[in-house]
Amino acid sequence: MDFKISEKLQTILDMINEFVEKELFPLEPYFNDGDFKAAVPIFEEKRQMVKKMELWAPNVPKELGGMGLDLMEHAFVSEALGRSPLGHYIFGCQAPDAGNIEILHKYGTDDQKRMYLQPLVDGKIRSCFSMTEVNMPGSNPAMLETTAVKDGDDYVINGHKWFTSSADGAKFAIVMAITDPKAPKYLNASMIIVPTDTPGFNLIRNIPVMGHSGSDYASHAEIMYQSCRVPQKNLLGPEGHGFIIAQDRLGPGRIHHCMRWLGVCQRAFDMMCNRANDRIISEGGKTLASRQLIQSWVAKSAAEIQAARLMTLHAGWRIEDVGTSEARNDISLIKFVVANTMQNVVDRAIQVHGGLGVSDDTVLSMFYRLERGARIYDGADEVHQLMVGRRILREYNERKNKK
Ligand SMILES: Cc1cc2nc3c(=O)[nH]c(=O)nc-3n(C[C@H](O)[C@H](O)[C@H](O)COP(=O)(O)OP(=O)(O)OC[C@H]3O[C@@H](n4cnc5c(N)ncnc54)[C@H](O)[C@@H]3O)c2cc1C
Repeated sequence: MDFKISEKLQTILDMINEFVEKELFPLEPYFNDGDFKAAVPIFEEKRQMVKKMELWAPNVPKELGGMGLDLMEHAFVSEALGRSPLGHYIFGCQAPDAGNIEILHKYGTDDQKRMYLQPLVDGKIRSCFSMTEVNMPGSNPAMLETTAVKDGDDYVINGHKWFTSSADGAKFAIVMAITDPKAPKYLNASMIIVPTDTPGFNLIRNIPVMGHSGSDYASHAEIMYQSCRVPQKNLLGPEGHGFIIAQDRLGPGRIHHCMRWLGVCQRAFDMMCNRANDRIISEGGKTLASRQLIQSWVAKSAAEIQAARLMTLHAGWRIEDVGTSEARNDISLIKFVVANTMQNVVDRAIQVHGGLGVSDDTVLSMFYRLERGARIYDGADEVHQLMVGRRILREYNERKNKK
């Protein structure tokens, strides 16, 4: 196992770190209490700078116009970008577009690639992924209600989705819908590309999340698909393969999510340490850093971050070594360990900042609000824990029965 960073990658990381600190940290208030949509022209200027520096779309193959970094290289980049909530967006590797780019690249027809994939990679349009439903449990995705029924050359889609991130202003949605209710479980649903200007694509609202509805990229929409008619050529991949394609979106993508969260951890940790060193809390100039309780939080956070980081790099290495399927326990473990590490570290950083920590004057409150969802999306903590626990116990049982 080798987690060494090459000279070339180190140069890339140095450039990214400098850019994120100098150009993006000052723009964060636009993301927090400002209107994201109104700030898009300012963000666009930064995106052009990134393109000029040839750092655009680090995860995307070179032939499509990205940097062509491999899984582990992009993992380190994702960590560096995660230090700002704007990082991935400004560098053209933000969710949910990154996942949609992957599946369009793998499963898209030539027409779909020309119409949707290339403009998406180029940052000219945005997309969203519409799977979770209001009335059905996202934790059990087999229980979908949305249907896509064939009618002539079209599919007619009906369903009620929500938490479709970044739908506001997106050019198209990739919608998960039941195409054959009689087919076996997990072979009954398909992914279908739905342009958002199709009649029957009704964006009801951006859902307020902890007091913020957000706008444009920074939002989560509730959508009614009401007799929404699209041509059958908008089917992505084979009919009935929706769940198989969904798995492709998740495996390696989790490494990048977790590394992004570790970027959040690192930023919160830096802020906690700097605040502890600077904040005088008693006569004689004693700072918070002089208090053993705070020293213990710093040590605990450092240990938790390092452990979570090594677990994530190990899971990435396992994916490369044995493949996503064999590495599924490692992937599930990091999903809930890193999400909880992030929550703990951000929470401690807020506590060290006192009132300032819960105010919107620093990025910490934004991290707290934006990242709480990490323990819910892409599989809630409990779902991953149950899956790993069940598999481990089954293996022990099989070993015992072999003896
Ligand atoms: C910020 C954010 C962004 C999102 N973006 C998208 C998106 O772009 N597209 C999209 O389609 N969806 C998106 N989602 C939705 C997300 O995928 C779902 O919220 C998630 O799958 C959980 O589904 P649910 O909300 O229906 O919760 P439920 O399925 O109702 O589960 C509720 C809770 O029950 C517990 N639970 C579930 N199963 C078990 C079990 N077997 N044993 C014990 N406890 C259990 C878990 O704690 C879980 O959180 C997003 C969600 C969030 C928060």
